[in-house]
Amino acid sequence: MYPELSMYIDGNFITAAQVEKTQDVLNPATGKPLGKLPHASKQDLDLALAAAQRAFEQWRRTSPLERSKILRRVAELARERSEEIARGITMDMGKPLAEARVEVAAGAEHAEWHAEECRRIYGRVIPPRNPAVRQITVREPVGVCAAFSPWNFPLNQAIRKIAAALGAGCTLIIKGPEDAPSAVVALAHLFHDAGLPPGCLNIVWGVPPEISQHLITSPIVRKVSFTGSVPVGKQLAALAGAHMKRVTMELGGHSPVIVFDDADVDQAATVLAGLKQRNAGQVCVAPSRFYVHEKAYDRFLSVFVAALEKVKVGDGLQSETRMGPLAHERRVDAMQQFVDDAIACGATAVLGGEAMGGSGGYFFPPTVLSNVPDTARLMREEPFGPVAPVTRFSDTDDVLRRANSLPFGLASYVFTGSIKTARHVSNNLEVGMVNINHFGIALAETPFGGVKDSGMGTEGGTETFDGYLNTKFISELS
Ligand code: NAD
Repeated sequence: MYPELSMYIDGNFITAAQVEKTQDVLNPATGKPLGKLPHASKQDLDLALAAAQRAFEQWRRTSPLERSKILRRVAELARERSEEIARGITMDMGKPLAEARVEVAAGAEHAEWHAEECRRIYGRVIPPRNPAVRQITVREPVGVCAAFSPWNFPLNQAIRKIAAALGAGCTLIIKGPEDAPSAVVALAHLFHDAGLPPGCLNIVWGVPPEISQHLITSPIVRKVSFTGSVPVGKQLAALAGAHMKRVTMELGGHSPVIVFDDADVDQAATVLAGLKQRNAGQVCVAPSRFYVHEKAYDRFLSVFVAALEKVKVGDGLQSETRMGPLAHERRVDAMQQFVDDAIACGATAVLGGEAMGGSGGYFFPPTVLSNVPDTARLMREEPFGPVAPVTRFSDTDDVLRRANSLPFGLASYVFTGSIKTARHVSNNLEVGMVNINHFGIALAETPFGGVKDSGMGTEGGTETFDGYLNTKFISELS
């Protein structure tokens, strides 16, 4: 049932049977192997680079309409194949099947959005000082891109990069997540079957630092796009900088949640519990530091805990499961260390707090910690898991100072009944995205990105092609 895994280079699928080095892919719900992933040799990487360079010379000259048609066809095929792609995601990444289906549906929307927007990549006419001169700007694709996408939304994180690069007229080589590769292999089939010419999209696997070093330092590559952790992002941005290459960096976050006493506290607690359990908290924009006004604290905690204690944890393929395992064993160890440290700092575990052993899978339950001091690691480092630290505040400017005190600046959540408070807080949070009284980010048509250590550049929205285009200025005397 688990699909055959492959690389995709110059229009050819290369399976594990055809290469020297492979890696086992494990099911995080059982710890058992699902399949073998082929690793790229240096020659494979060079073949992919040469293919992307050759394909770029043709692809950059295709009309936006032609590129749009292929992206649209990818969206159709993704919808047709939704069930098999979603099952693959659940098997190798762990999220419940219902969430995997939503991810495929959203992936199709991303392809469609880029199909629409790539027809609107406009230049402009600049009024000249001399009437005999015509001054224009045109936007040109930057060239061959190297992209690195993570395991938490294995389809969507990859398709956002692929659709933006191809829509802009670039070609690319992408290294997907070795822990959860089936969705990226499925993308190769979607683009292949949609008629994308060979070499425009190439997919490789291997030891991440070896692949990124080889691709980023290659003179063929002109742009680097990475989604993942802050430390790795900084390394890759430094490497790209040393070779003067453009970067888009979508890095980690530690989203502050601020619940005011004039909010609908029950609604806030219910919405936030749903977001905390989603993908077992392995979401860069997950709510992760909960600052609750002291007058609303007890009510918030009781509704929040009541919602999370009902969550059925298990194998994502079972229909009753609401939260799957963590994506790999190291995440379970990380959660336990965060919880133990917070308790040692004086926090109380109100729900969960202990890894769920026994099944061979990587399960950690929804966990709520109360009265967590700002000094605990959990309040300073990105948890990336189903653990929610809750703390009190009483003063708006003080909570803003605490929310802004970390180097992260990705998403944030504000719950209040006051427009004045909502405006003041959203104007003063140092983040890329603000959700007020609901969750409304990460749609294909809205820009997604962070500030400070959370990265640079934007994916989605009308800004989506900016990182893949150069502006050329032409001044012409007639
Ligand atoms: P990690 O930093 O080891 O890996 C994160 C991702 O980066 C993986 O997909 C990995 O294959 C890739 N990677 C690692 N080193 C690389 C390199 N030198 N070159 C290219 N790619 C490289 O962390 P992890 O344990 O897999 O995941 C946990 C952390 O990753 C979290 O704390 C979170 O910050 C981050 N993460 C963020 C996102 C996001 O959406 N921003 C997604 C997944 C993981």
